[in-house]
Amino acid sequence: QDLASGDMDNVAWSELPVERVYDYFAQATSLESVLRAFGELKAKLGVEELRGLELFGALREKLCTQKTWKARDALQLLEKRANQQEYMGQKAAEGVKVLIVGGGPVGLRLAIDCLLLGCDVRVIEKRPSFSRNNVLHLWPFTIEDLRQLGAKKFCGKFCAGAIDHICIRSLQCILLKISLLLGLSFHAGVEFLQVLEPNADTGWRAKLNPSDHFLNQFEFDVLVGADGRRSTVPGFDRKELRGKLALAITANFVNYFTREEVAVDEISGVAFIFNQKFFKELKADTGIDLENIVYYKDDTHYFVMTAKKYSLLKKGVLVADLPDTRDLLHPSNINKEELYEYAVDAAGWSTELPQLDFALNHYDEPDVALFDFTSIFQAEYAARALKRRGRDLILCVVGDALLEPFWPTGTGLGRGFLSAQDTAWMIRGLGQGRNMSELLCEREVISQQLPQTTPEKLQNNIKTYTINPFTRYCNLQLRKLPVQSVKHLYDTDTIG
Ligand code: FAD
Repeated sequence: QDLASGDMDNVAWSELPVERVYDYFAQATSLESVLRAFGELKAKLGVEELRGLELFGALREKLCTQKTWKARDALQLLEKRANQQEYMGQKAAEGVKVLIVGGGPVGLRLAIDCLLLGCDVRVIEKRPSFSRNNVLHLWPFTIEDLRQLGAKKFCGKFCAGAIDHICIRSLQCILLKISLLLGLSFHAGVEFLQVLEPNADTGWRAKLNPSDHFLNQFEFDVLVGADGRRSTVPGFDRKELRGKLALAITANFVNYFTREEVAVDEISGVAFIFNQKFFKELKADTGIDLENIVYYKDDTHYFVMTAKKYSLLKKGVLVADLPDTRDLLHPSNINKEELYEYAVDAAGWSTELPQLDFALNHYDEPDVALFDFTSIFQAEYAARALKRRGRDLILCVVGDALLEPFWPTGTGLGRGFLSAQDTAWMIRGLGQGRNMSELLCEREVISQQLPQTTPEKLQNNIKTYTINPFTRYCNLQLRKLPVQSVKHLYDTDTIG
């Protein structure tokens, strides 16, 4: 049977030895097949009922017995990470219950740290599958972090050679596999709707869709919005960072992995100011006027380019020049066929790829989209807390929900992972019984670093990064903010 095909229905699971079942899990390339193979693995080992640290412990015991088993390498790497002192032998935040909304890369990365801290973690993801072909730029520390967590054991070509990018769905699969081995409860097809206050009998809970899902009864101490740029976790005012009009096109083409395709060079960011000749020639030859373009080769040939509005109008991609960008980019104002042609022409001219057939998105349509980045949103604060009936709840936002990136500059994942680790540090503080106002103050000071952070501004020794922010940020001053300054972030019904 072909491990790479992702087709698991025809696998004779009962006849396979356990190490083969693990191989299916390690090589699975879709959400469905990862979960399916992991379920089969747990059944084979008789550990279906276990989760969290108990499951991680059982897997280590049962899958590390033979030197030749691939599971052994992966689990040993995770064990090494689990032994970092910050996690205090998985006792640092033991018993803290965390609900993470969103199974994107940042939500899953945070889940890993929460599991290592000893939390009881659940991740809900509203989509039923991982379908995003688009490719993310990885900062050096994120590559190192993922390598240390065993990414290569789950995706052999992960950052081979000089490659510093990965498609979103492959990254989600890697992170999901790591978190499942650590005992995560992951629930796809479950959407967060609202947070419910405690009553006399229950603690903080969430209203979810479907309404009969058992996690509607899950009571938690921390609610994390890792749900992307349109976050649904309540109470986070957002400020708009308005720049000049920026319209970006993403396009994915089928990668047939031919010798000719392999020979084509990637374009890791050609901004207009650095290479005016390139853009002038593109314009002269095709009429396409761009401000920058990025081309990465992964499962697909992926392009992201920032186009000048007048050139989109001239080429008929945009039907009418409308003042409000929501109207401008409304589907009724976009001529899809012209958009496809624009993307093919720009990609073809820039790379001379021999064949440009569109890859399909999850609607089975050509995977091309036009986005507006004129306004980028940032949450006003990274965390806040509520107290009702004597019960505290911390609410946090991470990743794009905290700070929306401008995709062509590739900052989304680097800053996203930093925000996940910073949030894990806060959850650790909660587990250690630290004062709530102090925690909120500290979280704010750390989060103020994020918008300015670039790889060059981080500590040099990326191998020693941990969830402790001092190991990552340079010149971090955890000056004591007056409690008064975060009073608005702690909303309590306690009088006095
Ligand atoms: P996301 O990756 O956006 O993940 C958020 C997750 O939360 C999603 O899986 C979503 O389904 C889920 N979710 C949302 N609401 C709910 C809810 N109420 N309940 C449960 N689950 C919920 N970056 C680039 O650098 N280049 C690109 O080309 C690029 N393309 C992108 C295309 C799309 C369609 C999207 C959404 C994002 C793209 N990004 C791109 C951004 C990049 O994916 C993020 O910076 C990166 O994935 C880290 O984001 P995240 O985990 O914080 O959020």
